[in-house]
Amino acid sequence: MEILTSITDFVSVDLDSSKESGPATDGLTWQQHMKVAVRSVQELRNRLDLASNLEDIGSTTAIKALESFPVFVPLPYLSRIEKGNAADPLLCQVLPTIDEDTIRPGYLRDPLQESAATRSPGMLQKYQGRVLLVTTGACAVNCRYCFRRHFPYEETPKSSTQWQDAIQQISFDESLEEVILSGGDPLTLVDETLGQLVAQIGAIPTIKRLRIHTRLPIMIPQRVTERLLEILSHSKKQVIMVIHANHANELDLPVEIGLAKLANAGVLLLNQSVLLQGVNNDAEVLFRLSQRLLECRVLPYYLHKNDPVVGTAQFEVSIERGVELIRIMREKLPGYAVPRFVQELAGEPNKTVFA
Ligand SMILES: *Cc1c(COP(=O)(O)O)cnc(C)c1O
Ligand code: SF4
Repeated sequence: MEILTSITDFVSVDLDSSKESGPATDGLTWQQHMKVAVRSVQELRNRLDLASNLEDIGSTTAIKALESFPVFVPLPYLSRIEKGNAADPLLCQVLPTIDEDTIRPGYLRDPLQESAATRSPGMLQKYQGRVLLVTTGACAVNCRYCFRRHFPYEETPKSSTQWQDAIQQISFDESLEEVILSGGDPLTLVDETLGQLVAQIGAIPTIKRLRIHTRLPIMIPQRVTERLLEILSHSKKQVIMVIHANHANELDLPVEIGLAKLANAGVLLLNQSVLLQGVNNDAEVLFRLSQRLLECRVLPYYLHKNDPVVGTAQFEVSIERGVELIRIMREKLPGYAVPRFVQELAGEPNKTVFA
């Protein structure tokens, strides 16, 4: 089984011969979009008509951080950012700043203690009945606030034999009902690989649901290929897809069309967001996000308190503020359009719900 483990592996995928690439609605397939994505601060600033500010990346630690967690912004997402606006809420999610250098007490490399929840390489279990497979370290974007920026992806399986171990463990454990494909982003796997994984999980009788955590339908809507729709609609299990959008501006027409196709294929669509300073710390912004998600046939699921990961303190919004925002949303929206404000606290039997 082919597992793409990094962006570099990714670009070696044959772009022309792959019939799973799907229709190139704006001239490029999703794989081509992965290849031509913006990969440097300079290019990002140039394309968006933003003044170059080398101070932003001037320090040694910041440059080091950029080496291990570089800029990566696909063009469909870039096209939704307002040119010349340094405070654009979509830009803030992807542009590294000198603030990543800030040392803040309580901000750790592995605050979720995922290492402790690892059952076997690439397989995490924290909660009853649900197991999470880290299918790949690759994403279709590098979000600066990401809680997995220090995750040891080298330890995740890279060969089909190693996947067999995880699949076997899942089939022997009758307490498990749901398999979550996560990462990185499982939709960076090519359709053939993903199809094999979905089929293997489909063959486990005790598993009822397959969940996919992905930001790809947002970042590159061309990822919703005919083959992907086929794989998901033919799965023997109920398929739930949890996408990740933080602001209504992320959900443009091509995204809406892709999500409609997924919904028509029988996929239950949910969204998770992270509450982020400079992006969506505002009742009106969150209200519009929920409205737009509903238009796209997606239910708001979680609004996450940011995780205290080294290099991301600039995004912090307090728990009190988050609770207040949810209260305001609840006054204006139907109950199903209000996400749960949560945080994952190490060692707890479920995510902690603040509101
Ligand atoms: C968040 C998470 C889940 C899913 O939790 P739900 O509350 O069911 O959405 C499962 N496993 C791990 C390791 C997680 O971090
Ligand atoms: S898509 Fe998710 S896992 Fe990937 S960088 Fe963004 S927040 Fe992290």
